[in-house]
Amino acid sequence: MSLTSPSYVRDLLARHKIRLKKSLGQHFLVDENILKKIAAAAQLTTEETVVEIGAGIGTLTQALAQRAGRVIAVEIDERLIPLLHEHVSSYPNVVVVHQDFLQFDLRSAEDLSSSSSLGKGNKGLGHKRLSVVGNLPYSVTTPILEKLVEAHEILKTATLLVQQEVAEKLCAAPGSRDASAITIFMQSFAEVQRVFSVSRHVFFPVPEVDSALVRLEFYEHPRFRAPKELFFKVVRAAFNLRRKTLKQALTRSPLLALQPEIALKALDRAQLDPQRRGETLSLEEFDRLARALATLLEPRNCAVYRSR
Ligand code: SAM
Repeated sequence: MSLTSPSYVRDLLARHKIRLKKSLGQHFLVDENILKKIAAAAQLTTEETVVEIGAGIGTLTQALAQRAGRVIAVEIDERLIPLLHEHVSSYPNVVVVHQDFLQFDLRSAEDLSSSSSLGKGNKGLGHKRLSVVGNLPYSVTTPILEKLVEAHEILKTATLLVQQEVAEKLCAAPGSRDASAITIFMQSFAEVQRVFSVSRHVFFPVPEVDSALVRLEFYEHPRFRAPKELFFKVVRAAFNLRRKTLKQALTRSPLLALQPEIALKALDRAQLDPQRRGETLSLEEFDRLARALATLLEPRNCAVYRSR
């Protein structure tokens, strides 16, 4: 029986006495067409390993297994693991991992992909053969995105179903009203594309919000040259105090706590007006500012190095 039938899924869960947990974002996809579209949007090849974030009962896992060389299906809820095993049993290329994705070592997945015979000798793909796909549990979207950024060097793509509002932020133009710190972070590591909207009605049970699919294609190198820690702190400081001017954000944010003369000097070197609001800066301007600061800062001048 198909996992895209809501009544089948309801009965299956009832038979196993499983009550879905909102806290784990347990809303399963029950639309064949959307499943196919997500799997196609991931653009997987049989040379690739894909890590699925939050595999649930294996609905999307099956669609991925038909396209990828190997699927590593990570699921945190132990009650779903037997069902997940059962639903992928006919796919020898699926490995089920019962773990919190936030604790999962993505590099171990990369090792799996490079030791697989499918991956050997495929120089054309470069050194990146790992992608991730997930219908994300919304409560942990931000930590998941942060984890992906940390692993950007080994990741090729990420195809993620996220809350509509998050998709808007991820794809916003830096400097625009919708932009936030996550916009700058993600766009400095990946080309972010909004693929399509997904109605809440294709999930069981129906969640309270609509979703959108986004696709991240990771760059070979991030789009900033400043030291990463400092770049992140400047961006965070600017958006945490987004109603303040740049000068105020740099001096008042506890992340930086700069002396006013250093803040002004950095802004001058970066050719930025101290009265501008940080939220209006482009990615390149954030980089210029962080680089100017890097050349000015000494550990004793500010909190930057103390709060690491
Ligand atoms: N992939 C399935 C689908 O598309 O129907 C399920 C998606 S459901 C929105 C999110 C899944 O992520 C749930 O099965 C939930 O138990 C799991 N999950 C929640 N937090 C997780 C975490 N930190 N690590 C791994 N899985 C998690």
